Amino acid sequence: MSDTIFSKIIAGEIPCHKVYEDDQVLAFLDIHPISEGHTLIIPKEAAATIDALSDEASAAIGKALPRIARAVMQVSGCEHYNILQNNGVPAHQAVFHVHFHIIPKHADGSGLGIGWKSRDFDHGKGAEMARAMAAAIGG
Ligand code: 5GP
Repeated sequence: MSDTIFSKIIAGEIPCHKVYEDDQVLAFLDIHPISEGHTLIIPKEAAATIDALSDEASAAIGKALPRIARAVMQVSGCEHYNILQNNGVPAHQAVFHVHFHIIPKHADGSGLGIGWKSRDFDHGKGAEMARAMAAAIGG
């Protein structure tokens, strides 16, 4: 699992256009951008999906994301952007090392296209589900 293309980028075995690096986080430009400035932010910890990521690595990513977003905005000139984080093949994940996309939405329309089909909300089921999730989180 640690043998992904991103582990090789972290190890310096494969080059990247580096944007940011600290002890726990690396950010670099996506090699197949969907808009100018499309940037990837990854923890150095080799977890495949975010549910498997440690609290420490999650905190480091959370701290870095807004700083990198500001740099993406400043340099790409975008005012708007999406942050995307895919987990699992059906959810469009191709590289099994946690990563966040920062995707500028430019005036020419380039950026992330989202098909968002909302459904009816069942308050009974919703309350049950929220209680079960809260219990699963615990603490
Ligand atoms: P996913 O669909 O897994 O969320 O996205 C993986 C992303 O990694 C894709 O946008 C793809 O372009 C990017 N990517 C894959 N291989 C490389 C690589 O070798 N270098 C860089 N910079 N990006 C990559």
